[in-house]
Amino acid sequence: MMRIDILTLFPNMFTGVLNESILKKAQEKKAVSIHVVNFRDFADNKHKTVDDYPYGGGAGMVLKPQPIFDAVHHVTKDSPHPRIILLCPQGERYTQKKAEELAKEEHLVLICGHYEGYDERIREYLVTDEISIGDYVLTGGELGAMVIVDSVVRLLPGVLGNASSPVHDSFSSGLLEYPQYTRPADFRGMKVPDVLLSGNHRLIEEWREQQSLKRTFLRRPDLLENYPLTEKQKRWLEQWKKEKR
Ligand code: SAM
Repeated sequence: MMRIDILTLFPNMFTGVLNESILKKAQEKKAVSIHVVNFRDFADNKHKTVDDYPYGGGAGMVLKPQPIFDAVHHVTKDSPHPRIILLCPQGERYTQKKAEELAKEEHLVLICGHYEGYDERIREYLVTDEISIGDYVLTGGELGAMVIVDSVVRLLPGVLGNASSPVHDSFSSGLLEYPQYTRPADFRGMKVPDVLLSGNHRLIEEWREQQSLKRTFLRRPDLLENYPLTEKQKRWLEQWKKEKR
């Protein structure tokens, strides 16, 4: 079973997220055990202070190394190879590929900052990864930790009802997902493409492949830069490029 420890100063923020939907079920199914730890409890000073003024002066406070080092040591003392992840806007940008990589681990520790920066020694000597969930600045790492936990846990074996469903998700295959439709076939004059009603599985697969590639080409061409295109897909792309001109 995967273990995840979330180190935060605001544990209550996680109550709703961890106790609903797939994350709740994953814990009930024992695919994952998730522990939310207030690292203020590890501060070794009388007032349980976790931050201090920056050396050299300047605005803002800095999270002290001691509470975070000790909280990490506490949650990892029996763990041979924990991945210790610092949430920060300066980190590697989070992707589905990273979620897949993390889903193979046995123990993740997520460190959430809040308001302020981290003492640099936390980055240098404690963590294995620094992750940003996007090029914008949040008040704290909690929302980022929730994003990582959700995206990793849904990949764990047995968590999603239909075991094949993450395979077709956008990004998992390297492309965006194809368009999906459900009943009715004609909704107020808006029709479902005929091919999906044809019952011809080969044609449906080909249509989906084509739509998935076309959607990626139109919305996220950057994803195609390293995508291993087949000859057929190259021909489709050439045609769409001509149509765009
Ligand atoms: N002064 C810091 C800097 O410029 O790098 C930003 C601190 S930010 C206001 C407070 C905390 O929010 C960070 O320590 C980090 O944990 C979290 N955070 C903010 N933006 C984030 C992002 N894009 N991805 C992940 N965590 C983020």
